[in-house]
Amino acid sequence: MNETKKIPVLERVMKKNEQIAAEVREQLHEKGIVTFNFMGSPGGGKTTLIEETIKRLQGKKRVAVIEGDLATTIDAERIRHYGVKVLQINTGSMCHLDIRLITQALEKIDLSDIDFLFIENVGNLVCPSSHDLGEDYRIILASVPEGPFKPKKYPVIYKEADAVIITKTDLLEYFPDFKVEILFQHAKEIQPEIKTFVVALKGEKIIIDDWITWIEQAKPKKR
Ligand code: MG
Ligand code: ZN
Repeated sequence: MNETKKIPVLERVMKKNEQIAAEVREQLHEKGIVTFNFMGSPGGGKTTLIEETIKRLQGKKRVAVIEGDLATTIDAERIRHYGVKVLQINTGSMCHLDIRLITQALEKIDLSDIDFLFIENVGNLVCPSSHDLGEDYRIILASVPEGPFKPKKYPVIYKEADAVIITKTDLLEYFPDFKVEILFQHAKEIQPEIKTFVVALKGEKIIIDDWITWIEQAKPKKR
């Protein structure tokens, strides 16, 4: 019997996608580009973090952004405001980005003068984790209003993550049960290598420097 017939179709597709993602990563590395896949719940602050990061990298890193959303170009327009290249992908009913959408997007965006590629994934903590987009780093956002148990509830996405950022920490005073250290501890139980950051972008005290210091020196890496 033919061996290939025994492998389920979905498994074969996933394998093929992983190969394509590895090739994309290599092509991006040849251009000297480091790629970041930002993942998190809807409303968790992904677009705001990307905006504020772009602002602080100005004059140091040339950034391009791929924006994934079910519908609308609202977030892409926000990013465009900062004068960086932005490409919007509307996924329709699909709740994650995959490597096929990314390769289509990469054909439409000139990356010849780019250092960092940011991919904002569709707001979702489940299936984005099983899709390699050719990125070097996976960044998970956990916002304070979502509560401290996201790593416990969604361990799969944390398992593959390089960094977790707690966002909206200016709201901590309204969420006394949210303990930053507990969330970080849970995340490290799942992924001991995970880098941890806190960010506050709306309150009186802006906190973002540690994250910027880390991302500034991020080098291409193999997944
Ligand atoms: Mg967004
Ligand atoms: Zn999905």
